[in-house]
Amino acid sequence: MARIAFIGLGNMGGGMAANLVKAGHEVRAFDLSEEALSRAEGNGASRAASTSEAVKDAEVVITMLPAGKHVKAVYADEVAPNAAKGVMMIDCSTIDVATAKSVGETLRGLGFDFVDAPVSGGIAAANQGTLTFMVGGSDEGFERARPFLEQMGKAVIHAGGAGAGQAAKICNNMLLGATMAATCETFALAEKLGLDLQTFYDISSKASGQSWSMTSYCPVPGVGPETPADRGYEGGFAAALMLKDLKLAEEAAQSVGAYTPMGAEAEELYQRFVERGGGSKDFSALIKMIDDSWKVPDSK
Ligand code: NAD
Repeated sequence: MARIAFIGLGNMGGGMAANLVKAGHEVRAFDLSEEALSRAEGNGASRAASTSEAVKDAEVVITMLPAGKHVKAVYADEVAPNAAKGVMMIDCSTIDVATAKSVGETLRGLGFDFVDAPVSGGIAAANQGTLTFMVGGSDEGFERARPFLEQMGKAVIHAGGAGAGQAAKICNNMLLGATMAATCETFALAEKLGLDLQTFYDISSKASGQSWSMTSYCPVPGVGPETPADRGYEGGFAAALMLKDLKLAEEAAQSVGAYTPMGAEAEELYQRFVERGGGSKDFSALIKMIDDSWKVPDSK
């Protein structure tokens, strides 16, 4: 069993840290939010007063933070100056490929092992320990990180060298954003053409238009398996997080000169939906903007 510093105990990190406690590790937790920290303590982690304190005697450091700027600052200002040489560092946040690469390079230069290991799966998967991890880093780094990731997930895949985990994550989510947008507009069109939506689902889910967005996550209430659409688009994967991932994908595409018109269009649609107050709704609620039934929430 290992001494693990876990930094960032929000929606995702809270459940992930709890699973490491359940697996028998000594987890020292820190978050800027008192509420998140108390919840982690309630789940069996011990409370640290700061990231610097949490990482002092740690053998492994795991971070689950909002974005690249937080990851960069936390590793540069608090983790690297206080961690013992040779410590394994794992960043599970979804961040831009360039920052993941540069943070990893700096840490390896200082004698630490570092992998980028973003996740697929939402809050329920984080709580249940069924996340999928996409890992970027050396073979040795991957093998060192793997046992800990396996205790928080159902699949741990080595995507390639530094930054490859983030690259795989944003490619996957760009595809998801584009297929969801296409699924939403298709059902809106089917309805306008007078098709019964359950009948259309029965046809298309067995025909060449089938996709995960349709058969596992149908944006139409009452059609297909139970999804956030059946719960008023609450829970699930927030549209604001989909927009974040689409922006990361566009940024990465520009950095390598890749032409991604479908990704760009999906980003534009999610941008408009978020600006119209849909950011906290599940990302499949985009269908309501597309079929024009979305009501902008009262700002009062
Ligand atoms: P969240 O906002 O709920 O949690 C982030 C936590 O980090 C917060 O509790 C915040 O207080 C803490 N934090 C911020 N700066 C800090 C600092 N300097 N030191 C210590 N703590 C700090 O976000 P989340 O939903 O848990 O997402 C975390 C990451 O996982 C994001 O990168 C997100 O894109 C990714 N992700 C989220 C989901 C999801 O469904 N929520 C799914 C896949 C990936």
